[in-house]
Amino acid sequence: MQYQDRLDYIRHLFAPETPQLKAVRESTTDKNDQISIHPEEGKLLQLLIRLAGVRTVVEIGTLSGYSTLWMADALPDDGHIYTFEKDTTRAARAATNLRHPKITLITGDALETLHSLHPKSPFDMIFIDADKLHYLHYLDWAEKHIRKGGLIVGDNTLLFDAVWREALPDRIRQTALQAMREFNRRLADPDKYTSILLPTTEGMTIARKEF
Ligand code: SAH
Ligand code: MG
Repeated sequence: MQYQDRLDYIRHLFAPETPQLKAVRESTTDKNDQISIHPEEGKLLQLLIRLAGVRTVVEIGTLSGYSTLWMADALPDDGHIYTFEKDTTRAARAATNLRHPKITLITGDALETLHSLHPKSPFDMIFIDADKLHYLHYLDWAEKHIRKGGLIVGDNTLLFDAVWREALPDRIRQTALQAMREFNRRLADPDKYTSILLPTTEGMTIARKEF
């Protein structure tokens, strides 16, 4: 497959995993749970962090901590990531994986626990990678708590290619589709953001907040 060969070339040359990243990825043994970002996306997050001088990150959706670790590795010594995971089994696994001075894992529904971060706001970056239905809620939060010039990044924003199709694919819910379309539409606003939806495997929307 030509597309896979192209991706393998990029992965091997630009995004080799550290032994710790490999171990975290492999800790996710359940096939249904293998929904973390890919190495080239991890490297992209690292590049964004360095380009924008990011020191503080909020992540919604930890899973095993694979994306968390990619980001933590790019942060300066005084940098920090606050990552939210609702599923207690996944959070327990992530807690074992993420023994790292720059990472704080917050177990619980982000919709109910995000407010615990308010005293530390504003933050430099948010990585939204959780329940698609609530992407707009996380965007509302980010508009208030990410600094001007900071980054709002959303994963899976092509929604399995449903966002741009006219007919609704079988496994996508109408409510999730509407939410994702609205999420992208808001971040595409040139008066508020400098932004793009990058066509990674799942789609990643990247926006610099200009207000
Ligand atoms: N960022 C991870 C993948 C996250 S998968 C990586 O790339 O490595 C999405 C995760 O979001 C799942 O583990 C799911 O349990 C979690 N999640 C879903 N809704 C949530 C919510 N409201 N609050 C916190 N976590 C949530
Ligand atoms: Mg994702």
